[in-house]
Amino acid sequence: MRLTFVGTGGGMPTPERALPSLAIRFGGSLFVFDCGEGTQRQLMAAKLGFPSSTHVFVTHLHADHYLGLAGLIATMDLSRREAPLHVYGPSGIRDSLELLLLGSRINPSFEVVVKEVGAGEVMSGRDFVIDAIWTNHTVPSLAYRLRERDRPGKVDVGFLESIGLPKGPLWGELQRGRTVVYRGRTIRPDEAVGPPKRGRSVVYSGDSAPFAGMVEFARGADVLVHESTYDRSLKSKAEEDLHSTAADAATIAMTAGVKLLVLYHLSSRYRGRWEILLNEARSVFPNVILPEDLQSIDVTC
Ligand SMILES: [Zn+2]
Ligand SMILES: [Zn+2]
Repeated sequence: MRLTFVGTGGGMPTPERALPSLAIRFGGSLFVFDCGEGTQRQLMAAKLGFPSSTHVFVTHLHADHYLGLAGLIATMDLSRREAPLHVYGPSGIRDSLELLLLGSRINPSFEVVVKEVGAGEVMSGRDFVIDAIWTNHTVPSLAYRLRERDRPGKVDVGFLESIGLPKGPLWGELQRGRTVVYRGRTIRPDEAVGPPKRGRSVVYSGDSAPFAGMVEFARGADVLVHESTYDRSLKSKAEEDLHSTAADAATIAMTAGVKLLVLYHLSSRYRGRWEILLNEARSVFPNVILPEDLQSIDVTC
């Protein structure tokens, strides 16, 4: 599970920071959260490309979070994409995207599958679930969470060999938590298999003022990528625009007990002095980074 910070700016880009987008490479798919202008170029620069299984999750319909969809689709079309592109977002995403494409004469030869979603499960696969909650912003806005399903524990090979149970389907049964009987002997899964491995999870806030629901949503996450538009001296502005300060993001990370906080959606006003935001967050919660665009991290088990 690899996270790439495709665009870390918010509102307005700077030469160093593109508009918001977070890419997660996981299990052969590319999950892209938000799609600010120029996201397709950032994905190329990050050498992520456009895998056939690409899913874009838009948090809300503010320009900085979704205008890049038109360019992304136009570029995919010029690259002769054939696989469908999946786009998820709050109510209104279908009409907004249709207008963008119509007005720009973009008529892709591949299918763009748009799904309007809300709180709850958004999509899932064999190994993961992506779900969402509504955040506290000036327009309907979603936060997304990618959760890997827990994996079965490791088989205790030494134990099973010692009792003479040959490798085969019965091992799988034990791993799936079922008791098996072999040559009259009952073998319980807890004596033959280690504890299940907890799945990794990553939360992406999109735009939001702090609220209790985010703490619950991010509880125990491996990584919380949280907007941090302002510093605390602009708290009243943050309250007005329903954004968060770096201290707000750090307080949520600490209360939720996440392992790592990533500061995101950084206002261009901090250009050349980003450390204001990093230092503010660090004074509340130590395990925090303020990434450069295109920086990647691996989320290990
Ligand atoms: Zn924004
Ligand atoms: Zn917004």
